[in-house]
Amino acid sequence: MFELPEFFTLSKQINSSLRGKIIRSGHLGNTPHKFVWYNRSHDEFEMLTKGKMIGEAWAKGKWLFIPLESGYVLLLGECGGKVLYHPPGSKLPKKYHLYLTFEDDSFFTVTTQMWGAMELYEKGKEGNRKYVQGMRVTPIEPEFTFNYFCRLIQELVSQKKQSVKGLLTQDQIIPGLGNAITQDILFRARLHPRHPIDDLNLQQKQGLFDAILNTVNEVMEKGGRNDEYDLYNKRGSYIRIMDKNSVGNPCPECGSSIEKTQYLGGTCYFCPSCQRLN
Ligand SMILES: [Zn+2]
Repeated sequence: MFELPEFFTLSKQINSSLRGKIIRSGHLGNTPHKFVWYNRSHDEFEMLTKGKMIGEAWAKGKWLFIPLESGYVLLLGECGGKVLYHPPGSKLPKKYHLYLTFEDDSFFTVTTQMWGAMELYEKGKEGNRKYVQGMRVTPIEPEFTFNYFCRLIQELVSQKKQSVKGLLTQDQIIPGLGNAITQDILFRARLHPRHPIDDLNLQQKQGLFDAILNTVNEVMEKGGRNDEYDLYNKRGSYIRIMDKNSVGNPCPECGSSIEKTQYLGGTCYFCPSCQRLN
């Protein structure tokens, strides 16, 4: 599944390859998928997208906003899979959940894995969508400061017991982070996934904050993780330190054998020596 760095990479690539293109025709999927969320019928989508121009895209959290000028915004969110640009003469994928053709004979397809939203809003109304409206500050915004991070933890501590993995992956408390990037953030911060947030000292908070920013920035600079594909169907170049391939391998820091555990709806990969649960 895409996380913030992958959505950010897609938005940049859309701006360099798709921006300014005029839509010849727009279609929803050719293959039924229970967990693709649409808000338009096929006919409506076709009618509303025809002749529109691709504007400047942006990413926020796990959402990608693509203006269709004038008057509409295409919203892709919470998805994984393939979001692809196809130069003229390319072959159309067999299955897709969204398909735009352009006047220059190039085209664009989205084929999700698992689930995903593919919705078309009148400009301005995309901000009212559930999970977009009221989204908290994301790690690539200037408001995401250490001060903000400490206040956020304070607010959560007063509500319920929470672990650092929960802080990073649950309820989009820090929008855009997910189970994949979280593994490397916690390794860099030397924190066990179950470490309670009410037990973090100032130094640990600073370490976690730095690890979030450094990891997100590094994955963005490398064009996403190498287990996801970009707009040109190329893998990103960020190789995760902690993932299923690292189980049993020596920790790059101390040489201990990397372990895995099931926790909070996903597998956690960690170093039992560097990420002790005290
Ligand atoms: Zn280690």
